[in-house]
Amino acid sequence: MRIVLLGAPGAGKGTQCKRIVQRYGLLHLSSGDILRQQRAEGTSLGKKAQSYMDSGQLVPDQIVVQMMIDAVKKAPAAGFILDGFPRTLNQAVELDNSLAHNGQAVDAILNLQIDDRMVAERMTGRRSCPKCGAVYHLKSLQPKVNGICDRDGTGLIQRPDDSPEVVAKRLKTYHQQTEPVVDYYNNNGRTVFDVDANNGADKVSDLIFEKLDAIDKA
Ligand code: AMP
Repeated sequence: MRIVLLGAPGAGKGTQCKRIVQRYGLLHLSSGDILRQQRAEGTSLGKKAQSYMDSGQLVPDQIVVQMMIDAVKKAPAAGFILDGFPRTLNQAVELDNSLAHNGQAVDAILNLQIDDRMVAERMTGRRSCPKCGAVYHLKSLQPKVNGICDRDGTGLIQRPDDSPEVVAKRLKTYHQQTEPVVDYYNNNGRTVFDVDANNGADKVSDLIFEKLDAIDKA
């Protein structure tokens, strides 16, 4: 299966991807994770992406498209799930062209729908471990000791792009630049599965598995 997972930042794409990957044995390709990895390694791509990411803007297409198309080419036969890509109309078109070049296409598009207010609450309360990447939440997923990672005892941080001002900017960017991707797929005869992501994570997974099981068996 080749799956695209769309949805606003904070809609729970990362959590759902992990579960989907486990169930169907796909490769998880998160553009945000790959970009953060590039930054951590101090590559020239990571350095170019840094200021855009920290201010809630999208990294330019010419950087992200090649990076993701290269990653897709390395996917196993079982397939992949794209998390956070495509995020612009141009990225969606480039992805389609690249897959078509190899006689392939996206099999399923999942669109996690969530209210902006819920996103703001989820993201501004998020804290993560700079060492192992574990994610917590001030209200819904607290560590055992306040501010400290359960796994390795490192002090938790707020990602710069989870601050309230940047979250507002990321939501605006999402509505302006990423929502047209949903229209693009709908207008090109693809089935987009809308999933209500205001629900808890387990309910959202159930809704997703119901759709994907049907495709997997087809
Ligand atoms: P994420 O973790 O998916 O929310 O991504 C974090 C940041 O990485 C975003 O706010 C963007 O600055 C950048 N980014 C991730 N994916 C893309 C993409 N497909 N296109 C452009 N920028 C991206």
